[in-house]
Amino acid sequence: MTNCAVNVHNAKGTHPIVLVCEHASALIPPSFNQLGLSAEDAKSHIAWDPGALLMARYLSSALNAVLVEGTVSRLIYDLNRPPEAASAIAQCSEDRTVPGNVDLSDAEIKHRIATYYEPFKRALSNVLSQHPVTPVIVTIHSFTPVYKGKKRSVEIGILHDEDARLADAILGCASGFNIQRNSPYGPEDGVTHTLQLHALPNGLLNVMVEVSNTLITTNEQCAAMAQALQAWLLDALTLLEPNSPSRARP
Ligand SMILES: [Zn+2]
Repeated sequence: MTNCAVNVHNAKGTHPIVLVCEHASALIPPSFNQLGLSAEDAKSHIAWDPGALLMARYLSSALNAVLVEGTVSRLIYDLNRPPEAASAIAQCSEDRTVPGNVDLSDAEIKHRIATYYEPFKRALSNVLSQHPVTPVIVTIHSFTPVYKGKKRSVEIGILHDEDARLADAILGCASGFNIQRNSPYGPEDGVTHTLQLHALPNGLLNVMVEVSNTLITTNEQCAAMAQALQAWLLDALTLLEPNSPSRARP
């Protein structure tokens, strides 16, 4: 299922995990004139999460899990932000001004919310409400290893909001990388909107995974990272719900 803001990949997937990739695409529809950015910036990490979608698709296949994907650049609308957040339609990203987002009229802002944010939110709500088993929400992101000129030591971030059950379990299982809790961002940075909106009110297990984009630059790296994530997620879910047959390893 696709509309202009969302694609539901492997819609019939039956695994309890429902994957979400809000920043999957760097697509800026032609009518936005590249938002006034250089071609290089419009394809850079400020526009999307490089590697995240491919990694998420490998994970979706391996688990037979539904994957809800954003289909436009987060610079058009950041699907992991509520409409009231200034960063929903960022006027500046890292150190670059986004000219096409400056001085928007109320009508232009409303149009973007209605065209991109609302359909994505609705599609994810529908997937969750129609899921054959109690869903577990796992959102998949990548981050830049150097931000505003500073190198980040973290390689994989396991992020959570108020409900840390799944994050705690993953942090107990995961190894082999520099893995940190709520890093390089945390809930105080406003990055847990999808979890707040869809998981917390319904008591659903949830986590946000952030992977350094240098670890997922090739097809092989995306497949390997998906395999590692799969093992950690399944181990973590087994710890949380040891008697559930649906949590068994394939
Ligand atoms: Zn992201």
